[in-house]
Amino acid sequence: MVNEIRKRLYRIIVPLPNSPLKDLNSYVIKGEDRNLIIDTGFNRSVCYEAMQKGLVELGIDLNKTDFMLTHMHADHTGLVSRLASETSRIFFSRIDSQVFDEDNSWQPLIDFAEINGFPADELQKALNSHPGFKYSPEKVPKFHLIDDGDVIECGGYRLQCVATPGHTQGHICLYEKDKKIFFSGDHVLFDITPHIESWAYTTNSLADYMASLDKVYNLPVDLVLPGHRNFLGNLKGRIDELKAHHRERADEVMEVLGSEPLNAYEIAAGMTWDIDCETWEDFPIAQKWFATGEAIAHLRYLEGEGRITRNTKQKIITFRAIRN
Ligand SMILES: [Zn+2]
Repeated sequence: MVNEIRKRLYRIIVPLPNSPLKDLNSYVIKGEDRNLIIDTGFNRSVCYEAMQKGLVELGIDLNKTDFMLTHMHADHTGLVSRLASETSRIFFSRIDSQVFDEDNSWQPLIDFAEINGFPADELQKALNSHPGFKYSPEKVPKFHLIDDGDVIECGGYRLQCVATPGHTQGHICLYEKDKKIFFSGDHVLFDITPHIESWAYTTNSLADYMASLDKVYNLPVDLVLPGHRNFLGNLKGRIDELKAHHRERADEVMEVLGSEPLNAYEIAAGMTWDIDCETWEDFPIAQKWFATGEAIAHLRYLEGEGRITRNTKQKIITFRAIRN
C-alpha cells in the first residue's frame, strides 16, 4: 500500500508477518534526478513483493535511487542489497555498520545470554528464530557511512542526520528543518514502545535512549514519520510518555527483584509483557530472548542509578536491590 504524505514524499507499507510490529514504513522521496528510499523491510519475498509493487506504482527507477537505513535491524536493512543498483549510495550509520563486519559473530551475544540465566539448551533455538539471523541482507553492500550532523539531500528535502543511540547504538533519525519533518526510525513510535535491549554490561542503552529522547525533544516539528505504524502523534507528548513508561518499567523491575538476588532471565519472567500468553513458559523463544534483553537494559540502567548491585563473581550473574 502507498500513501502520499507531502509533495514528492510517499510511504510504502511493507508487511512484517508474524512480527508484533505488523509492518514497516518505507519512506520514498521522488527527486528530479535521484530518489531516496528510507528503510526497506526484511529480506523475505513478502516484503520484496510489497516494495516492488509500491515502487512501480510510484514510477521509481532503482537505477536512480539511493537508500538511507535508520539502523541495523533486519526489518529496516534486510532488502537493501536486493533493491540497490550499482549506482546506489547506501547511507548508513558508521556505528551500526559494525554489526556487518566480517569478524562479527553472534557468539558473544549467546555467551552473554547464558551468563544472564538464559537456558543453555534453548540458546540455539532462540538464535535460529531471531529475525536478525533469518532476514538480514543476503550480502553486505558497500555503505556510505554517516555520522551525526551529516546532510542528505533529495527532491528538495534537506535531511540532517541526528544520532540517537538507544534502540541501537548507531540509530540515526533525519530532520528536515524547513519543512519541520522528523523521520524518527524506531527512536519514537506512537502505537508501540520501541524495544530497548542490552547484550553487554559495558553499554547502558536505556540511559542512552533517555538522553536521545531529550536530544530531540525541543526540535520544532510538525510531522513525525516513524518506522512502524501511524504518524498521527506529537513528538513532545510522546517523548513524555516514553520516558514515564521506562521509569515505571524500572520500578517494576525493583518490585520483581524484591529482597532475593535474581538473574536477568528470572527477572524478565517476573515482569509483565504485552503478549498473548498465559505464562512465561508459553512465550515463543524469540519473545523470551527479546524480553531478557529488555530486562538487562533496565537492570543496567538501575545499576547506573545506584539502585541495584550486580554480582559477577559466579557463573550466572545476579542482581540485588540496594535498600536505603
Ligand atoms: Zn528496530
